[in-house]
Order: sequence, then structure tokens, then C-alpha cells
Amino acid sequence: MASTNLSNRRLRLGMVGGGKGAYIGGIHRFAARLDNHYDLVAGAFDVDAARGHAFAAENFIAPDRSYGDYAAMVEGERGREDRIDVVAICTPNHTHYPIAKAFLEAGIDVICEKPMTTTLEDAVALHELAEATGRFLGVTYTYSGYPMVHEARAMVARGDIGRVRVVQVEYPLEWMATGIELQGNQQAAWRTDPKKNGRGGSIGDIGTHAYHLAGFVTGLKAEAIAADLATFVEGRALDDNAHVMIRYEGGARGLLWSSQVAIGQSNGLRLRVFGETGSLVWHQEHPNELVFTKLFGAPETIKRGRDDLSEDARARTRTPPGHPEGYIEAFTNLYSGFAAIIRANAEGRAAGPMGEGIPASYDGLKGVAFVDAVVDSHEKHNGGWLPPRFA
Ligand code: NAD
Repeated sequence: MASTNLSNRRLRLGMVGGGKGAYIGGIHRFAARLDNHYDLVAGAFDVDAARGHAFAAENFIAPDRSYGDYAAMVEGERGREDRIDVVAICTPNHTHYPIAKAFLEAGIDVICEKPMTTTLEDAVALHELAEATGRFLGVTYTYSGYPMVHEARAMVARGDIGRVRVVQVEYPLEWMATGIELQGNQQAAWRTDPKKNGRGGSIGDIGTHAYHLAGFVTGLKAEAIAADLATFVEGRALDDNAHVMIRYEGGARGLLWSSQVAIGQSNGLRLRVFGETGSLVWHQEHPNELVFTKLFGAPETIKRGRDDLSEDARARTRTPPGHPEGYIEAFTNLYSGFAAIIRANAEGRAAGPMGEGIPASYDGLKGVAFVDAVVDSHEKHNGGWLPPRFA
């Protein structure tokens, strides 16, 4: 059953996970609201059904659309006239695959958290399922939503820094510098369990964001990677620090660092791209600015909101220069891009500017393939070079 007439109403959104005490589900709900494209109307919000129903009631979800689990939600929604158009999956990694599969098979589009799956096999299967069903599967690589990241991408594509030579991307965090998974921290507990998180610790959790960001801005594909993983917190089963060298097509070289033990770093995602004639630096904690330096020139700080920025950056900007935007707006840009694509698909037309560069199932697959190659390089090849299976 194809959705129809999506252009004259808000999209009906369902959510799996994201219940009380969860982290990212709340950010999804902000992002869905800000540009007015969605109504949250259904959910299976918690692994504990009773807690999920209580959360649904607090969030004004009709009782008959609060479900005990995702399977009941698929069944309950698929037969309704006013069924959801799209579901957001905000659960731990190991559940993404079965949940996304069930909704895609029911003909419902999916917004899936990263990493898309915990195994490469599942990522391939999910990407193929999205293609086969013709349903949209978007992946929330948050940081590609920022206007100044789009500006950097447009500048690289326009040749402002010349041919790219060197890509340095780092994503250091402090919060897992001690064994908080053993002290009742919900988010750290599943992130350090290989069955729930997947093979890559820091590299799966945040390395996938950094890898996507570097590829998004430069347009470069990785040809091979070589990785050194470390686990600094005693007893932890997965890496909490990763150094990855990347050889990109065309000869550019990359270095990616992800760390969950970097004391003093709150959310220190930073990208530096060095070309033949200039360089760009973007830092997530100062997202309204992009530093551009021409060969032998003085660094210039380009600021969000100015009239002379690219169309891609301006399309993703809400407030005037000097009135800061941030994380919620970046996440909203993804949600508005997903909405543009879902509506356009329903009408068989192109999505337009907001659909540009929106991460979808192949981007999810590339992220999982990157993690797989990184862990293989470290575990099986003593840090030797390997091509990611999908790039
Ligand atoms: P969390 O532990 O804070 O929340 C998980 C939620 O899912 C909880 O409400 C839990 O009850 C619920 N849940 C678990 N299994 C479920 C099931 N089978 N059915 C229904 N609900 C279920 O986790 P989190 O930190 O919010 O992370 C969730 C996902 O979001 C992960 O995949 C993570 O990698 C991703 N994430 C992405 C970003 C980003 O920037 N895009 C940031 C943080 C987390």
C-alpha cells in the first residue's frame, strides 16, 4: 500500500526506542518538530512495555497506538488507514536490523540510527531490502546536517582548496574514560557489549560519524584502511580508542582518531581538509564557523548565516548571522531532508535541495563496512592494509 498525498499534511511518525531515560530519541523528537514536517503518533518506546506505555501517555500518544514491542507496532500500524508514514529507530545497535527489516517489509519508510547494523551481512541485507522494496531508509549521521559542513562540502567541490591531499578527522570523547558500564550507566552498558554494539567499540559508535563526515565533505572514497585499536579501560571487551590510516582514491591520505577515553573532550569532533591550494577546518563545538586558509594566506573565519554562502548552507540555516544555531538544528536538517525525500518518492519526483546529501542505506552500509575492515585490520592483519568491502 503506497502512501499518497503526503504534500498536504505532516508526515505521521512512529518511534521505536527513545523512551524515558534514553538519549537520542529525545533529539529525534526535537528534530521532527522544529520544521513542522512530522506528527509523532505511534511508538514502542521502551524495551520494557509498561514503561513504554507510560512514556507514550506522557507524550500524548493515543493508547491504541502505544505498542508493547515493535512487532505489535508493525501489525497494528500496517492495517490502519492513518498508519505511520515512517518510523524512527532509536534503539541499541543490535536491534536496528530486525526492526528496520520488519517495517520495510510492511511498506513503511525508516529513519535508522547509526551504525545501521552490527554485522556487515545484516547491513548488506538491509540495503538490498530497501532497494528491493523501494522504501526509503535514512541514516542519522548527525554531523552532515550542519550548514557549515555543507559549506565545506560545496567549497571542496568548487575547487576552493584545490585537489585534496590530506584529511584529518578526529572524534574524541571523555565520558567512557572509566568503567562506567559497570556502575549502572545505561548507554555505556550496551555500548561495551559486543553482542549489542557490534565489533567496533569507539570505532563503531563515533568512528562511523567521523568517517562519514570526512567522505561527505571531500567526496572521496576510501580504497584501503590500516587500523590500530586499543582498550584502555580494564575489562572492557571492545576498543575505546582507534587510530585508522586511510588511503583515498586519487592518492589523498586520511587519518581518523576516535576515542572514548579522551579526558577534557566533551564532543570534540573536528575535521581538517588540506588541499593543493588551501585548507578547511570545522569543529563541532563551534559549528557556526568554518576556517578557510588559502596557500600562504591568513586564516579566514567564514560564519553561518552570511548571504554569500552556498545555496546548500543557506537552505539549512534558520537564524541570521550572530544568532547561533547548533545540534538540534543540524538534526532537524536531516529530518527535513528525510521528509523531502519521503514526500518526493510518494509523488515520483526529485526531492530538491533539502534531499541533497541525505545519508541513506548505502551510507549506512559503508559505515558498517568501514568498522568491519578496521576490526579485521587490527585483529587479523596486525594493523595491515585492507580495502573496505563497500566504499
Ligand atoms: P539509550 O540506551 O539511551 O536508549 C535506548 C532506548 O531503546 C531505550 O529507551 C530502551 O528502552 C529502548 N529499547 C531497547 N531495545 C528496544 C526494543 N527492542 N524495542 C523498543 N525499545 C527498545 O541509547 P542511545 O544512546 O539513545 O542510542 C540509541 C541508538 O542511537 C544507538 O544506535 C546509538 O548508536 C545511536 N546514537 C546516535 C547518535 C547520533 O548522533 N546520531 C547519538 C547517540 C546515539
